[in-house]
Amino acid sequence: MQNFFTQIKHKFGLLDPSEEQKFLQNEAKQLEAAQCKQCHEYRDWVLANSPTVRFLQQEVNKIGGNINENNIVCAQCDDMKSGGFNQQLGILLCQDKLGSRRHLEDTLAHELVHAYDYCRFDVDFLNLKHHACSEIRASTLSGECTMLNEFFRLNFKANRGLQACARRRAILSVKSNPNCKDEAQATAAVNAVFEHCFNDTRPFDEVYR
Ligand SMILES: [Zn+2]
Repeated sequence: MQNFFTQIKHKFGLLDPSEEQKFLQNEAKQLEAAQCKQCHEYRDWVLANSPTVRFLQQEVNKIGGNINENNIVCAQCDDMKSGGFNQQLGILLCQDKLGSRRHLEDTLAHELVHAYDYCRFDVDFLNLKHHACSEIRASTLSGECTMLNEFFRLNFKANRGLQACARRRAILSVKSNPNCKDEAQATAAVNAVFEHCFNDTRPFDEVYR
């Protein structure tokens, strides 16, 4: 907490520029610490209680992966992503983007699908078709494309259903691949593998989120 008088002075614009800068830096630091703590609490709850996350984690670790609370890390992210998977480092959860436990759960499930694909199919994430396939599966199986989530994104009427959502999100992700030159190329990669990868629900028997 900042000093009460400093806060009042800030509100009335009475801090001198160096005090104001210090005040804002302090605010940012406090926010970061709060988000970090919140992210770890959500993460631990989800690891203990989410059937989807627990199942995926077990399946990844069964096929040679090793994803656990030591390599599922919370951090600030500088772009629009909410999470990431790296074969050496593990799973990143963007603490500044994950404002609810549900959002963290979907994000962690999404990244676990990437981890599964990496272990199971030896995915080369720089290959656009490989990347597209894993993104389609991750969005379909994680719960990111449930009706409720789509409703909150206001895509409820514009796009009908799971397929449209998975396709749209996969194109967005593939577009940011360093090997992808534009949206047309991302769309082509996603379309080329969509049928096959959308229907490949491993390690689940079917899509149930
Ligand atoms: Zn992804």
